[in-house]
Amino acid sequence: MSEAFDVIIGLEVHVELKTASKLFCCCSTAFGAPPNSQTCPVCLGLPGVLPVPNSEAIRLAVRSALALNCQVRPFSKFDRKQYFYPDLPKAYQISQYDQPLAEFGWVTIHPSGEEAKRVGIRRIHLEEDAGKLNHLGQRLGDAVGSLVDLNRAGVPLIEIVSEPDMRSAEEARLYLTELRAVLSYLDVSDLRMEEGSLRCDANVSLRPHGYQGSLEELPRVEIKNVNSIRNVQRGIEYEVVRQADMLKRGERIVRETRGFDDSTGRTYSQRSKEEAHDYRYFPEPDLPPLRLSPEWIEAQRTALPLLPDAIRRDLRSRGIPDKDVEVLVLDREAYEYWKDAAQAFSDDRLIVNWMLSDVSRLIHLRGETFATATVRPAQLVELLKLIQEGTLSGRMAKDVLEAMFETGQDAQALVKQKGLSQITDEEALMQVVNQVLETHRHVVADYLSGKEKALAYLVGQVMKLTRGQAKPDLVNRLIKEAISGSQAVSS
Ligand code: ADP
Ligand code: MG
Ligand code: ZN
Repeated sequence: MSEAFDVIIGLEVHVELKTASKLFCCCSTAFGAPPNSQTCPVCLGLPGVLPVPNSEAIRLAVRSALALNCQVRPFSKFDRKQYFYPDLPKAYQISQYDQPLAEFGWVTIHPSGEEAKRVGIRRIHLEEDAGKLNHLGQRLGDAVGSLVDLNRAGVPLIEIVSEPDMRSAEEARLYLTELRAVLSYLDVSDLRMEEGSLRCDANVSLRPHGYQGSLEELPRVEIKNVNSIRNVQRGIEYEVVRQADMLKRGERIVRETRGFDDSTGRTYSQRSKEEAHDYRYFPEPDLPPLRLSPEWIEAQRTALPLLPDAIRRDLRSRGIPDKDVEVLVLDREAYEYWKDAAQAFSDDRLIVNWMLSDVSRLIHLRGETFATATVRPAQLVELLKLIQEGTLSGRMAKDVLEAMFETGQDAQALVKQKGLSQITDEEALMQVVNQVLETHRHVVADYLSGKEKALAYLVGQVMKLTRGQAKPDLVNRLIKEAISGSQAVSS
């Protein structure tokens, strides 16, 4: 964009942690239960109750912070954030304000054709989720009523606040994809945007060239609660054009919160700065500060699994092309599938080629994923071994793979049943070759007079007679040998 400004984007991402129970009570966090069936006096905010922190939530939050290169504070504290809304029974949310759990992290993004770039993470803090309002109507504006479901109230969340380091909707997309990939390897969350276990607010502003002030002072728009990475990108793209048009018309951009309308791709004003909440944060009197020993924090770091950047390096060092590396890294299930297969098979690239073409196609067709695929990694390896040792041609293996998905049977069994093995017996093949040369003397003559294409035709005829079960390169060699042999005899 050769405009008179830079696009400035900062993202706030909420991640629901995958604990069995809520952050401050024993209620279940399972998704999809009947409304209000997973509540108790603590998460309903009844008088006289006390919150008890869930240590597993703290562990998952610290694990996330370390994987995102943050410094975890040995001392942090909880604060009350006050606001009045029906989804918040206590009329305050327990969160962390001035002393958050972790700070100063980053995510590395890889914009195509550009150098890798770090997007800073300002802070990560722990907080409890609010309940959910189900509006009776199409949208909030014309709802005839709203029902409150407090099953989600008190579910543990981390909020990951980025620095305003992204400069395009594409960079925001890459940041979210990478963040989600890192978290996926940690087993800390379901990360389902459509179920709300991963939510994103996007802050967007335009910085005129020559602007000297701080980014925080630029009037920015916060697009709230968009439900997919694609829509975050669309919302930002729309906002950039809208704000640019305003600037061109000499209008002033106001700081406000905007919603995103999926069907039109537009953002719409929800509330302006004047109506913004004053949350009146103060320290949570019912919870002591959170003290984490440096030894315990280090133990969490040691327990981290291999993360995307390390996985990328490993896959590249095995000669897997960058494009395929990205597909594997960003889909943990695919990567695990590949890893299981690679343990039992030496040709890393052949596994990837089959996974990302035929296996992918078949699992999508059947509504499966790599984790639930009917054909398990070990079974794919058996099939690939049959190709490697020459029993099956690539073409035949494709059919066998389909049959494996349909029947759940192993490659070996199917090959036997269908009498499918490739003909590698030279003597048997030689008979077919001789027969073809006999009946196509004019083609042989063409070949001898220098027409290379004639050879391919002869190979094709042998393949036809053997119903594709011959090895093409073997047929090729046998035909050449047969022709030069007969020449030697006749001359
Ligand atoms: P708030 O309480 O307003 O949500 P936070 O501190 O939680 O404030 O988050 C501020 C977010 O806004 C951060 O993600 C930050 O990167 C982003 N941000 C700050 N300045 C700008 C800007 N000029 N343009 C876009 N985003 C910005
Ligand atoms: Mg915020
Ligand atoms: Zn409860």
